Order: sequence, then C-alpha cells, then structure tokens
Amino acid sequence: MKIYDCIIIGAGPAGITATVYLARKRIDFLVITKDIGGQAAISGDIENYTGYQFITGPELSAKFEEHMRNYSFDLKEQEEASIVVKRDDGVIAVKTDKGEYQARSAIIASGKKPKELNVPGEKEFKNKGVSYCATCDGPLFAGKDVAIIGGGNSALDAGLQLIRIAKRVFIINNTPKLGGDSVMREQIESSKVATVLNNSKVAAIFGDNFVLGIKVDKEGKEETLAVQGVFVEAGLIPNTDFISIVEKNAFKEINVNGHNETNVPGIFAAGDVTNVPEKQIVIAAGEGAKAALSTFKYLMQNR
Ligand SMILES: Cc1cc2nc3c(=O)[nH]c(=O)nc-3n(C[C@H](O)[C@H](O)[C@H](O)COP(=O)(O)OP(=O)(O)OC[C@H]3O[C@@H](n4cnc5c(N)ncnc54)[C@H](O)[C@@H]3O)c2cc1C
Repeated sequence: MKIYDCIIIGAGPAGITATVYLARKRIDFLVITKDIGGQAAISGDIENYTGYQFITGPELSAKFEEHMRNYSFDLKEQEEASIVVKRDDGVIAVKTDKGEYQARSAIIASGKKPKELNVPGEKEFKNKGVSYCATCDGPLFAGKDVAIIGGGNSALDAGLQLIRIAKRVFIINNTPKLGGDSVMREQIESSKVATVLNNSKVAAIFGDNFVLGIKVDKEGKEETLAVQGVFVEAGLIPNTDFISIVEKNAFKEINVNGHNETNVPGIFAAGDVTNVPEKQIVIAAGEGAKAALSTFKYLMQNR
C-alpha cells in the first residue's frame, strides 16, 4: 500500500489552508473529508474574515475550495475517518468507511459538529422540521413560525438569518440573558419578529408527519409554542471520536502546543478540533497554515 508523506483529515478552513500550504511545499499528501468547507460553508453572514468586510459562509467556502483545487494532491471526498493508529514502524494508518490509507504524518482538522438536545421528538422529527443548519434549511420556513434553541453566537447567527425569512422567531435560551457578540445580540433584541425566552429549555418536540410545536419549560412552568421549525443551536462538540491515541482535554478537544504538535510525534492538529482558544474561521485557517509548516519540518527532520 502506498505511504503518503501526510494525510489531512477534514477540509474546513483549517484543513483547506493546511492543504494549500502543504501543496506549495510539494509534499505528496492525501485529504480525507466528509465535505468541503466545514462549518464555514453553513455560516451565515461573515464580517470578521480579514479582507472581506462582508461575505456569506457559502461564498467564502467557495473561494477556499477554488484556491485549494488549484493545486495537485489526492482527495477523498464524502469519506469519513473512523480510526487512526500509529504502528510500531512509525507509519500512521487511517481507516475510513471506504478504505484504508497510510502516511508518515497526519494533520487532524476535523472541526466540530452540533450538539444534540436529547429531548423527546428530536430524533423523530430530524429533517421533518428539526434542523441543525439555518443556512441550509432556513429558506424552507419562509413565512412560518420557528424556534431556535440556544443563546450563543450560533443561535444569534441563525436568528439573524431567520428573522429575514420566518414570520416569527422564538429564541429559547436556558440562561438569564443571551450571550454571544453584542452587535448580533442588539439586532436580535431590536427585531419585531424575534421573541427571546430566557431561563427556558425545550422539554419536547411534537408533531404528526412534521413538527407542529415544542413544549418549553420556563422556570418550572410548562408552555406550548406552535412552531413549524426547530433550529438546534445548542453548542458544538469536537469530531474526535475516531482518534484515541492523542491526548485530549475535558471537552474532548485535541491538546496541541504552539507548533500544533499533539503528544504523538508526527500527528498534528489544527482549528476547532483543538484546545486552541476561540473558534473562528481566521483562527482555524491560521492554525491550519502553522500545522502544515510544522508537518513539513517534521518530515524534513525524519526522512
Ligand atoms: C452557524 C455558524 C456561524 C459561524 N459564524 C462565524 C463567523 O461569522 N465568523 C467566524 O470567524 N467563524 C464563524 N463560525 C465558526 C467557524 O465556522 C469555525 O470556527 C471554522 O469553520 C472552524 O474550521 P475548522 O476547519 O477547524 O473546522 P470545521 O469547519 O468544523 O471543518 C471540519 C471538517 O472536517 C470534516 N470531518 C469531520 N469529521 C471527519 C471525519 N471523521 N472524517 C473526515 N472528515 C471529517 C468535516 O466534514 C469538515 O470538512 C461559525 C460557525 C457556525 C456553526
């Protein structure tokens, strides 16, 4: 079996930037990814990526992808890494749902995924009114009433998209007030379409073939809200279940040092999947660049 110099897992901002940097070093590498763009592709309006005062998530991801595809490297799309091991001979083996690959080094850039609520009705109505992506599914709820579950930046981002589309937007937030960036919060709080329910949590989602409403527990009192859409924006968890050989923190994020090295020589990590504070596109991209340069140095020193 071929042994690549490196395998990159994930093609969000971190993995794509690592790809551009490794390609420019003329390294023989493979990218394995479930999708291209990652969370950036489902972000709404982006106003904090340097060089663009305003760009949408799908537009920025398309630019990232175009840049990446200018270079020559092997790519396995719609493929999911299921296990990563390091053999006694130092080779890193990656098993996926479709095959097995080997390399002398690896960059883990698998990012994060939405946390589920684990309430009755959530699984049953997934894709039947329950969504984890306002950018993807928001337009399906034009003129309808929807609920967003969460109170941080992801919930605000979803709120800003949905107040332009839906008739009414309820934000169910389980803390005393909304968190997130004040610029976004002010826009939500001043919107006539949005109603924020603080100190509230969803107890159940109900419907027939499609969502008809939610039961909300507001400080011990149960209330029913008739909504046709439920957008779960309750935080994110790192995609790290497939890799147990590296050290992780209490949040299941991969611990890296300033050079993006994990505790396993030859395995690097970058972006939201790591313990690096602040989860942002510009940070993930910068970390991807650093991880690629550290990988290049490692490969040169371990020929
Ligand atoms: C709704 C929303 C709005 C946001 N808005 C902003 C914003 O305005 N500005 C900003 O800077 N940031 C924003 N963010 C955060 C930003 O999108 C993330 O910080 C950034 O995308 C992280 O990049 P990443 O490459 O580390 O991970 P991700 O973007 O999560 O990409 C991970 C990649 O890994 C792949 N993958 C995962 N598991 C596997 C596996 N087992 N095998 C193979 N591939 C795998 C995924 O398919 C994906 O391609 C937003 C996020 C969300 C969800």
